[in-house]
Amino acid sequence: MDLSQAPSNAAAVELVSLTKNYGDGKPAVDAINLRIASGSYCCLLGPSGCGKSTTLRMIAGHESVTSGDVLLENRNITDLPAAARGTAMMFQSFALFPHMSALDNVAFSLKMKGVDTATRHQAAGQLLERVSMSHLAQRKPGELSGGQQQRVALARALITEPKVLLLDEPLSALDPFLRIQMRAELRRWQKELKLTFIHVTHSQEEAMALADTMVVMNHGTIEQMGSPHEIYNQPRSEFVARFMGGRNVLAWCGALITVRADHMQLHAMTDRVAPGSQSLTARITDIEYQGTHVLVGLQAQAAAPQATLSELTVMVPENRFMAQPFALGQQAQVAWSVDAAHHFTSASVSTV
Ligand code: ADP
Ligand code: MG
Repeated sequence: MDLSQAPSNAAAVELVSLTKNYGDGKPAVDAINLRIASGSYCCLLGPSGCGKSTTLRMIAGHESVTSGDVLLENRNITDLPAAARGTAMMFQSFALFPHMSALDNVAFSLKMKGVDTATRHQAAGQLLERVSMSHLAQRKPGELSGGQQQRVALARALITEPKVLLLDEPLSALDPFLRIQMRAELRRWQKELKLTFIHVTHSQEEAMALADTMVVMNHGTIEQMGSPHEIYNQPRSEFVARFMGGRNVLAWCGALITVRADHMQLHAMTDRVAPGSQSLTARITDIEYQGTHVLVGLQAQAAAPQATLSELTVMVPENRFMAQPFALGQQAQVAWSVDAAHHFTSASVSTV
């Protein structure tokens, strides 16, 4: 057996009962356990204040740990200074030095280490080539577009040859169009470099687009971890279902169930609902045209013992809506097949 080859399920980063208490009562990060596979793109996802950045900063060594451990490739790095960990961080604003050229920005940490000018410029030049920025090496950040700045920031983070790249909301300063372009680039770089990326975001759309593994956090704990497909289709708790969105949560026969908005159908009151389907009556309160589909908001009318039952959204494909339009205030039947209903396995209740 070749021991130099790490097994495919090797953890690049392992968090063991990791806790941060800022001393104001409830911990910001509360004894989380997590294994992040080597070479994977991991997104930490959750609402503002749930402890994502604190977790990332403890991995980076920018925040002290109250208790628990951070392991990188089985090495305990909990008490090592940031520069000695084998991690690198890329920030939201990219934090480039405005008065330095792209080349000098990339070479900066080598300069701090006392590496001579020729050697560090050569290393920085190679990295800029890697991110297709060689031709702009002498430009200052103010003379670069947002996307170009992101590439320089990436090259600067990579010059220390990290094993893990940590990214805290790296795309949130960009306009929506550029954000979508840049996330495709991040994804491509991660696959090309075969590095482990840990990316913090509050956007479920961004996390689903990027992640091999998503970690959904809430109040300093991990609610669920899995592939985007698993998390979207099998949310463990009401919290995850509501946070991911695109779903309805309703009380049905004494239990909470969740059904995807695009797995529900709208029928006129006179239509017969297909056998094997479940249905309820609701009044249309909102109609929102979205291009490929129409979002129809409804207020459930019958059998509504709980508030969670009362509001629903049904995503109707555009052509179907146009063939059978509904109007505001109209009553309709909302139907879904039994197979489309998903039950929660964890009781965690939404606070978002
Ligand atoms: P997120 O990145 O998910 O938005 P953070 O990790 O920044 O969340 O914050 C988690 C919690 O810890 C929040 O309640 C926040 O107010 C608190 N917090 C973060 N940084 C500090 C700090 N330096 N001192 C005290 N409390 C902090
Ligand atoms: Mg944050």
